[in-house]
Amino acid sequence: ATPTAIMVGTGRGATHGVLIKSAEALETAHDVKTVVLDKTGTITRGVPSVTAVTCAPGVSEADFLRIALAVEKPSEHPLAQAVVAYAEARTGAAGESGEQCGKTGNAGACETRGNDVAAVCGDVRVTDFAQVAGGGVRGVVDGAMCVAGNARLMKSEGVDLGTLVQAGDRAADEGATPLYFARDGKALGLIAVADQVKSTSAQAIAELASMGVNTVMITGDNERTARAVQQKCGIGQVIAGVLPQDKAAEVARLAQDGRVAMVGDGINDAPALARADVGIAIGAGTDIAIESADVVLMRSDLLDVPAAIQLSRATMRTIK
Ligand code: ADP
Ligand code: MG
Repeated sequence: ATPTAIMVGTGRGATHGVLIKSAEALETAHDVKTVVLDKTGTITRGVPSVTAVTCAPGVSEADFLRIALAVEKPSEHPLAQAVVAYAEARTGAAGESGEQCGKTGNAGACETRGNDVAAVCGDVRVTDFAQVAGGGVRGVVDGAMCVAGNARLMKSEGVDLGTLVQAGDRAADEGATPLYFARDGKALGLIAVADQVKSTSAQAIAELASMGVNTVMITGDNERTARAVQQKCGIGQVIAGVLPQDKAAEVARLAQDGRVAMVGDGINDAPALARADVGIAIGAGTDIAIESADVVLMRSDLLDVPAAIQLSRATMRTIK
């Protein structure tokens, strides 16, 4: 495109909060064949909250939440923050009365939804905390090795999830992410954490489809949860269970078929944004994602993805 067309194009983008960092990005975007979108924080709001707690048989909810709080506290993952907020709220509620979980000592599985009151007492600490990429976290609590994460991590740890798997699958089918917890290799329970699909995600994805652009959701989350989110947002294709370090390779693989734009917000997404023909960062995302991107959406609205491609198409048309 001519320098004037580029100036007009970037200027028009900027008025709508679409910051295009280079002339090359504005030109390249016009014939993008596939748009890859990160799930958490991009298609969904990125502010998950706890929707269900299920204890393993013989485990009290008080004991379970105490461990869950301790092991998730040092993690910066949004899923961990949801668990911590939930467990702390219950700890706080119990502070004065010292009330115990109503299901303490129950021999069967206990499940709590909504506002059943349970209490978590005592101050627990974790040592030897470590993250497991694409799986979860681990740490020592009360001298016992505790693990929190997805079913894949539990399998690699040799933890038998028993009937928790059914509860986890039910949560996943509703679009929640099941987080499993174990102590000394034995299952303690599961906490389902759900994030809402942003209000404009489905419309943005439909617009891209009507423009002839393929849409793909990429996520470290499990396949089942990803499929449920696909139902809610109508995205064309799903690639689930992707390790953080493998996202860029998936983008490169898709790019063999035509130009790829990648939309993301997280630290994890930076290499994939850099690898894509057009990297698009959500303005509300991390600094590293914004730095790695060619385009930044200041309004954090996915409708600005089809808008940016339209702008590029219009810019290229002015020179023909
Ligand atoms: P994404 O950025 O797509 O969420 P991650 O690689 O960060 O992908 O996480 C992949 C999966 O690992 C999560 O869906 C979750 O099941 C598990 N996981 C990650 N961090 C934690 C954590 N702190 N506690 C429990 N599970 C976790
Ligand atoms: Mg993410």
